[in-house]
Amino acid sequence: MSLPPLVEPAAELTVDEVRRYSRHLIIPDVGMAGQKRLKNAKVLCVGAGGLGSPALLYLAAAGVGTLGVIDFDVVDESNLQRQVIHGQSDVGRPKAESAAASVREINPLIDVVVHNEVLTTENVMDIFARYDLIVDGTDNFATRYMVNDAAVLLGKPYVWGSIYRFDGQASVFWAEHGPCYRCLYPEPPPPGMVPSCAEGGVLGVLCASIGSIQVNEAIKLLTGIGEPLVGRLMIYDALEMTYRSVKVRKDPECVLCGKNPTVTELLEDYEAFCGAVSEEAQEAVSGSTITAAELKSWQDAGENIYVIDVREPNEYEIVSIPGAVLIPKGEFLNGSALERLPQDKKIVLHCKSGVRSAECLAVVKNAGFSDAVHLGGGVLSWIKTVDPSLPTY
Ligand SMILES: [Zn+2]
Repeated sequence: MSLPPLVEPAAELTVDEVRRYSRHLIIPDVGMAGQKRLKNAKVLCVGAGGLGSPALLYLAAAGVGTLGVIDFDVVDESNLQRQVIHGQSDVGRPKAESAAASVREINPLIDVVVHNEVLTTENVMDIFARYDLIVDGTDNFATRYMVNDAAVLLGKPYVWGSIYRFDGQASVFWAEHGPCYRCLYPEPPPPGMVPSCAEGGVLGVLCASIGSIQVNEAIKLLTGIGEPLVGRLMIYDALEMTYRSVKVRKDPECVLCGKNPTVTELLEDYEAFCGAVSEEAQEAVSGSTITAAELKSWQDAGENIYVIDVREPNEYEIVSIPGAVLIPKGEFLNGSALERLPQDKKIVLHCKSGVRSAECLAVVKNAGFSDAVHLGGGVLSWIKTVDPSLPTY
């Protein structure tokens, strides 16, 4: 299925533009008309992180006339392994500003719009309305569903990508011509089931593989060339080095883009929709959450405690709390960890940031360890408040 171009051509290209884009202009399918469409195009990239970095760089170089970037975060040293739009001297700087500076350096002929703010249900409709197409480089389900809903409600196409370890996926969601993200994933995954890249890691170069697919699809949609990735899901396996595409059908029962939609405006709270932690875990941690300072004082006072790290072995290797015993979360979920727990000590669970340990705490309390607690904020809060000399990841 080919689609008509999303954007009308600009009136003309300047001499500088002709010189700069000559390798595009001599491709018959792109040509003058295609490049003028790119010049007239307004594209927003949500997130200047792993996917946003290559996406913004190549969209800028390609001559997309108006390029928006929205990100509220600041550049951290642990970003530089994959977020190649930022450099060492950008650490601590807002990502949106850092990305905009790189974009201007690559192509001073385009306009960059910096949105140094959180994308929220309050601003998403206004911001999206100013663009022809959205490139989604977000890394969490709450924002992803919000991006999808806003794009569908506004009738805008968006190019989605997702990365984890060695695996990547990409698709184009455009309810007018095919399925939306909710057709593919009607429900967010249960909290704690799908680890984020911060928890599970990501091969840096995977971002380039998926980000470049996203730019490729954006250019095709803007100029109306080729077969867009509408109604298809591209699945990339970097270890096997395979690309597969599978058909994704529009779900006639989709609550958002189906025949009888029940979601006709943005949800009030996408965080709640995706649930940071499960109800059981929320119940378990209430009144049973300690701070890193408390844990430290218990250790110093020689309290009878048993500290368990529920992260994965490779995370434990990077940094761990002194004296903590490693029992990964999976062993709590399958029950095998329970027999290893001492009956005569107070159990203290921790993970990286407190989500996984909350899930484990629910299991442990159900098994009768009613005085067990978990460390709010995980090893990250320990590093922040007790021992800032330790590495973070
Ligand atoms: Zn749908």
